[in-house]
Formats: sequence, C-alpha cells, structure tokens
Amino acid sequence: AQRLFDPLRQFAEKFTAIQAGFTAVERVSDILDEPIEIRDPKHIKNLQARNNQNDFPRSSPLAPRSSVGEIRFENVWFAYKDDDYVIKDLNFVIHPGEKVALVGPTGAGKSSIIRLLCRLYEPSRGRILVDGIDVRDLPQAELRSRMAVILQEGFLFAGDVKGNIILGDSYSFEEITAAAKKTNIAQFIEQLPQGYDTQLRERGTNLSSGQKQLLAFARAAIRDPHILVLDEATANLDVGTEALIQDALDQLLVNRTAIIIAHRLSTIRNVDRIFVLKRGQLVESGTHEELLQQGGLYASLHNLQMLGTE
Ligand code: ADP
Repeated sequence: AQRLFDPLRQFAEKFTAIQAGFTAVERVSDILDEPIEIRDPKHIKNLQARNNQNDFPRSSPLAPRSSVGEIRFENVWFAYKDDDYVIKDLNFVIHPGEKVALVGPTGAGKSSIIRLLCRLYEPSRGRILVDGIDVRDLPQAELRSRMAVILQEGFLFAGDVKGNIILGDSYSFEEITAAAKKTNIAQFIEQLPQGYDTQLRERGTNLSSGQKQLLAFARAAIRDPHILVLDEATANLDVGTEALIQDALDQLLVNRTAIIIAHRLSTIRNVDRIFVLKRGQLVESGTHEELLQQGGLYASLHNLQMLGTE
C-alpha cells in the first residue's frame, strides 16, 4: 500500500480536509488511526477541456448532470501490506446516476473499496477512474468537489450548527437553510435555543444519532456532489428519525451516482444494482430480485438477515 508517514504533513492534510469539508477522509483516518497522506498529482490534467459540465454553473438546470458521476474500477488489486491482497482484480463500472449497494460478509473488502475511491489508499495494481480520469490525476480539491462521503454516525466538530454544515466554505444563510430543509433537519435546528448558531459538542453528544446523520446529509447536500459515498448507519435509530432519514436519503440520492455500503434491507431494495463481494472479489451483481432468484451468496445473506430481524 502507498502509505507515507509524515506527522506534520498529516496534520496539515487533516486540517485542510476539515476546512475543505472532506470530513469523511478525516473521519476514516480517525477510525483507522493510521498515518495517511494523499498527495496531489504532479501533472494535473486539464479538467476543463475534458469535462464540459464545467461550462455550466453548478446549480444550473442546464448542467448535463446525467453525463457525470461515473466510477470505474479497472483490474484493481490492493493489499494493505505485502502481497496480502484484500481486493483482487476488481472490475466494474457504475454509471452516472446509478445507485449501487455493496454487500458481503465482514472483511469482504467493502470499506477498502471506498477508501480506494476516496484515495485514502492507492491500488497496488490497476486504476480507478472518476468521469474517465484516474483519481491519481485528480487534484484533491477536484475530487472533493465531485464526491461527498457520509460515514456511519455523522461526525461533528466543536462549533455551531451552521459551521458544521458549511465546514469553512462560504455559503449563504439561504443555502444553509435550504440544505437543512432538503435533509429534514431544519425543523429540529429551528427548535434549538440559538437555532443555526447553537453550539454543538465535538462528539455530538447533544444530538441523537439520527440527528447527527441528518446533519451529515445536510453537509453533503449543500455541496451538491455528483457522487455520494455512503456507509449506512448500523446503529439502531429511534423510530421517529428512521423515517426522516430514509426520506432525506431518497431526496439526497436524486440525480447523483451513489455507492452505498448497505446494512439495511430497505436500502438494498431501492438500488439499481447490488454488488456482492467475497474475499475481495465481485462474486454476484444484479437487482435484489435477480440475486434472490439466483440463489447464491446474496440469497443466503438475505435469508440470514431476515432471520435476524424477525
Ligand atoms: P468490509 O468493509 O467488507 O468488512 P474491509 O474492506 O474492512 O471489509 O476489509 C477487507 C480486508 O482487509 C479484511 O481482511 C480486513 O481484515 C483487512 N483490513 C481492513 N483494514 C485494514 C488495515 N487498515 N490494515 C490491514 N488490513 C486491513
């Protein structure tokens, strides 16, 4: 694995990541508790020339959104150390606007795929392309603007609600409230003592896990990314927020490519395709119904989960 150690640089990277709103990266490295450094490419590709969507303002209805947000893995191999490959010759294309769920037993490689996509690590062999461009050739800022990552339990920073949505970027108050409305958190925020100026504790202990999740959705919504990467919450959410979250998520997914580590069956049913992983390989793919019919690994995982929930 490409892993370089430089504590100072690492700190700077983390800080920049926070400032730039790519909190998930910070969060992932937080979880991994490992030094991670991602460098900007030496040769930065001329994105303007290759991506005509840049000719349109981001929010313009004319922007050909359907033509952006493609994810492609080409012969991707990856090992955290030596030849201990956890991803083995992975090949797939996720089309613009398509929703794909990653499922598979623990240790199958789901999180590793997401870490590779976010460039927390680089493939040992093969390449990963976003909109036809190798992610190694994409400047961090560009990758960040194309992709938002939402991990289990929205991560919060010490600061106010507003700051936790904008994360150092400049957005108008109208944009902030619009993002909060879209993600079903506005009502809750308005009921707080100081509304959007209410201070939050760093680990978000004054919010429920569902509210933290919605706030993480608002943070993603305001950035209007083409690609959403989502590690769905496993935690038991209170019944009240569960429906709000599902609805907010449905809204958030509209017009975006999404790659979801799904833990709940309800999410899996709504996606376009399910990728079933086993020991770093893609062993099945298809819709929920197709895979059930196939009677393979997905069908048995599904039946196990059904047993577990009943
Ligand atoms: P999943 O998300 O499907 O549970 P992961 O991608 O987390 O699977 O893990 C795939 C394999 O990689 C597992 O065998 C796991 O033990 C290993 N692994 C995950 N993270 C690390 C790491 N930071 N260092 C070394 N091995 C790891």
